[in-house]
Amino acid sequence: SNRAASRFSTVGASATYAVFDLVAELRAQGVEVFDLGGGEPDFDTPEHVVDEAVGALREGFTHYTPSRGVPALLEAIAQKLAKDNGVMADPASDIVVTPSAKHALFAALLTVLDPGDELLVPTPSWVSYTAMARLIGARPVQVALDGGNGFRITRELLEAHVTPRTKALLVNSPNNPTGRALTAEEARVISQFAVEHDVLLIADEIYEKILYDGTEHRSLAALPSCADRTITVNGFSKGYAMTGWRLGYAAGPTDLMTELLKVAQHTVGCTGSFVQRGGIAALTGPQDPVEEMTRQYATRRDLVVDGLNSLPGVTCSPPDGAFYAFADIRGTGFTDSSSFAQWVLKETGVALMPGSAFGPGGEGYVRLSFATSAEVLGTALERVGVALGGRP
Ligand code: PLP
Repeated sequence: SNRAASRFSTVGASATYAVFDLVAELRAQGVEVFDLGGGEPDFDTPEHVVDEAVGALREGFTHYTPSRGVPALLEAIAQKLAKDNGVMADPASDIVVTPSAKHALFAALLTVLDPGDELLVPTPSWVSYTAMARLIGARPVQVALDGGNGFRITRELLEAHVTPRTKALLVNSPNNPTGRALTAEEARVISQFAVEHDVLLIADEIYEKILYDGTEHRSLAALPSCADRTITVNGFSKGYAMTGWRLGYAAGPTDLMTELLKVAQHTVGCTGSFVQRGGIAALTGPQDPVEEMTRQYATRRDLVVDGLNSLPGVTCSPPDGAFYAFADIRGTGFTDSSSFAQWVLKETGVALMPGSAFGPGGEGYVRLSFATSAEVLGTALERVGVALGGRP
């Protein structure tokens, strides 16, 4: 529409929501769809979390809360950051609770980027970073990582894209869509690069709880000389299976968080009161549900990776974390990941995400979510195998 602001001219609709909508449309037509496209846990929220929020509603905890967040939640987040991440944040000044990690990311970018500023985004990446940067008039600069090198972040790649306008670097680990977690070497590269170029860091750590094979989570804010230049974003959607609740937070240096709080004050007021009470229960209650869900993801991961590697022309390395397999399909003879995904959906009813949707470096790959039952995963892979095997 030419009545909308010009900022929309460079922003496309979300590619993940497009697949989400297409799956719903096919299902409405009665087509059987095996949805490996989405990015949300198939588990329900742990019961003690639900009970706490329902209790809060029943007792009339239904009013505005402080814009920063319910004090007990801020305290629980500060303790979690110290204990799990080695990140010191004062609950009174360095943390803001937000309705979703997505909103925390948007608020963080709005806080640090002026129009024309450049945001480095290693890709393939989650689809919304570049769109958010564009919506606020900044320039996303995509740094294409090399799948042949395990999508590693290297000093050479960062140096090739840095300019005097570079304001911040956004890093997502564990990563959507590649499933990779930062190594100690990458963490060192990132902290040295940030310090030497005086660049801020935005750390999206939403998949922190979902890691396999004893892989260690590395928080950017805990790296040498990075505490004062990093905004950490996290939330409850993935680890605690709370996608529909919309609950997340940002934590960082006081000067930046003072401004970020204004974004919360002027755009949302506060996050849902009873939703925040659920968040307190999630952080301070038993963590066994999180561990149990991760164990199940691990089993499915092995099933999916083995299944993918047995398909003709497909290879997949096991992800370190998150619940995505990022499979190399270049050996299948398809010219691009989008036609592969469309063909698979039409032939088999299996929905997956083309790697090209995640930016430079993603072409030639497809993302399959294994946040769905082992049964669905088994059937889906079998169907794709039959279809691929039957091609001339
Ligand atoms: N960051 C990444 C990398 C994600 O994959 C997602 C969800 O898909 C989010 C952030 C958003 O999480 P939330 O549900 O808290 O907005």
